[in-house]
Amino acid sequence: MEAERVQGLRGCRAQLRFRQKSPLELLELELLPQSQAHPECLPEYRPEPCTKCGRKLWARSEELILKASSLPQGVDAFRLEDFLAAIIASERFVETARRLGSEQDIVFREVSVR
Ligand SMILES: [Zn+2]
Repeated sequence: MEAERVQGLRGCRAQLRFRQKSPLELLELELLPQSQAHPECLPEYRPEPCTKCGRKLWARSEELILKASSLPQGVDAFRLEDFLAAIIASERFVETARRLGSEQDIVFREVSVR
């Protein structure tokens, strides 16, 4: 991915065990919460974040909109502070993943930015 100029990725070796002798090296991406959802797609009922880990357990609306002013610079894949389960990737990331043949493993959906 980095050879294809995708920026701001940090991988660490996945902690998996394989049965084969020389398995592929799998990297897990570290995806930090670095952006926010647009206020318009936040749920009306927003319970306080977890007091231990700060996680927000908010119900996500069907359409996810990103807050333009909160988008990180030079990072092609990250998470949203408001919905940690959502992974956001740039067009460059998606194009690269498609070129490298990962499309069968990942489902990409387009989101709007406002
Ligand atoms: Zn927690």
